[in-house]
Amino acid sequence: MQIHRLPAFSDNYIFVLHDLEHNIAAVVDPADPKPVLKKLEELDVELVAIFNTHHHSDHVGGNRRLLQEFPQAVVYGGERDRGRIPQQHYFLKDGDQVSFGNRTATIFFVPGHTHAHIAYYFPPISANEPGDLFCGDTLFAGGCGRLFEGTPSQMVTSLSKFRTLPEHTQVWCAHEYTLKNLEFALTVDPGNSYLKNRYLQVREARTQLQPTIPSDIGTEKMTNPFLRWDQPELIAATDSNDSVQCFARLRGMKDQF
Ligand code: ZN
Ligand code: FE
Repeated sequence: MQIHRLPAFSDNYIFVLHDLEHNIAAVVDPADPKPVLKKLEELDVELVAIFNTHHHSDHVGGNRRLLQEFPQAVVYGGERDRGRIPQQHYFLKDGDQVSFGNRTATIFFVPGHTHAHIAYYFPPISANEPGDLFCGDTLFAGGCGRLFEGTPSQMVTSLSKFRTLPEHTQVWCAHEYTLKNLEFALTVDPGNSYLKNRYLQVREARTQLQPTIPSDIGTEKMTNPFLRWDQPELIAATDSNDSVQCFARLRGMKDQF
């Protein structure tokens, strides 16, 4: 499965998945149909599936147009997004599996950013390859999504699921927020040398307008404060050794940053 990362709007990423063996494509969170149609034409491939993580328009805005072009394509989304995702056909819950070509994704129910948000995890098909996590607006490189509909407790549970994935799992999140996220991270975890190095790399990449996505779970666990609520530095920065309270305070600080 080849993954094509398409920039959209000011900071969104859309991911086109291409199964070369069967020459079929799927798309994760088509914010805008135009770049997707262009890429599909370029690859000369048929769209068979749309994988939506949640109902926000910068994730589902392309559904209708893509279905006009590819009426046989099916739309996947979370069961609790019923009525909010245009033309949704499948209503997924935690632990469900969906297949695409020779890969099968496991669904994680990850409420927090919205109350219905899901993520798609494609485990590796061989031992020396990484798996792929499409996590929408739940986990970002160096940060996490705002809590629009969910609670800190839900988000901690959701992010905890990602912490259990293999370190080299590729993290395909839906926005290029990494530099700003790491600027904040340095304010709460200033002694973290991995974080400092990452910040310098990301700053350099963004100066040259290069993408910082995908990230990987190992890097996130070392440098993302929103996966580090149980580390002494973050406990000190928030003055709380309660996971949910530590996380909630970090999220509150980031909202003001
Ligand atoms: Zn969103
Ligand atoms: Fe978004």
